[in-house]
Amino acid sequence: MKISIPTLPNPTGNAPGYINPLAHITLPAAVAKTKEFLDKGKGKVLVLTGAGVSVDSGIRAYRGSEGHYTTNPNYRPIFYGELVEPGPKGYSFRQRYWSRSYLGYPPVRDAQPNPTHMYVAALQRLGLAPSLITQNVDRLHHKASPFDPTETDKRILELHGTLHFVHCPQKGHLHRRDEFQELLGKLNPEWERVVSEVHGGKVKTNPDGDVDLGGVKYDSFAVPSCADCEALGIQDSIVKPNVVFFGESISEAVKARAVHMVAASSGVLVMGTSLATYSAFRLIKQALEAQKPVLMLSIGPSRADGLPGVEKIEMPAGSVLEGVLQRYISSRQGPVQEEVRSLMAKGVTKVPENLPAPRAEG
Ligand SMILES: [Zn+2]
Repeated sequence: MKISIPTLPNPTGNAPGYINPLAHITLPAAVAKTKEFLDKGKGKVLVLTGAGVSVDSGIRAYRGSEGHYTTNPNYRPIFYGELVEPGPKGYSFRQRYWSRSYLGYPPVRDAQPNPTHMYVAALQRLGLAPSLITQNVDRLHHKASPFDPTETDKRILELHGTLHFVHCPQKGHLHRRDEFQELLGKLNPEWERVVSEVHGGKVKTNPDGDVDLGGVKYDSFAVPSCADCEALGIQDSIVKPNVVFFGESISEAVKARAVHMVAASSGVLVMGTSLATYSAFRLIKQALEAQKPVLMLSIGPSRADGLPGVEKIEMPAGSVLEGVLQRYISSRQGPVQEEVRSLMAKGVTKVPENLPAPRAEG
């Protein structure tokens, strides 16, 4: 199953005429309902997150509540087959991808977890929802994690990969994105300046670290090949970010791990996603087929609307989780509660800058 551009078949979700029975739920009732879901899960609730949880960290969601791209309606992502295509045509796609990504990556790299990431980390720390699958590639759940890196990797599955590593598909050589970013900068010293002149330093960033560069020619951008391959004498090796592209399949290992996480869970708490991407929706189908309950904290229509076994609270996940966590920690004092309080206070909200749209392609 290849990843396709996420869509909802119609703007009101997958269920025309669907009326959410929880449409008018109050915040205290939403908190009580979510707490009950976690209590019933007895420490086996699986959390599934999407782009909505990273918006408060200044990372734009691809799609608005209507299921359309919010960035540029003409924006078309690069597909897997294009990025890894050998020869000059593929190189041109790689120039386009890496020139934009070179500029789009730093804001993602520097983004900080917002309160929702910290609340999810607190649920993990309290053992209420120990494992997490995210569709986000921004590593913000990792940054929020109170556990050491090994434990964090065990608890968090990045379904669509992460922007923080690159690799060569030929040999699988893995490199840190920061190192590759440095290399891109060294090979293209003029690039940042050219772009800042065109856009006044303002560029739109998409969640995959790609940016819109209307008006800028990217065919002067130099794309390095894999350094390890070069050392082995392999020419023109392709470097790809460790994210699953449109038109690419999720690896069998990741797929199997996700299926196992759903099977081991008592139910799924979904946050900040319309489940428009089938790889995520399929996990919800798996849970429902196994009679596991699904509770969504997400605003806007979703692919799971109206499915038996799915309940949806249309509120920002953060405000509901904050209330839930307060109820868990207020009645008890101890080192864990202290740690959770401190985690909860660490989130940073960054209001997305209202950047001017890049000039239209001339
Ligand atoms: Zn290599």
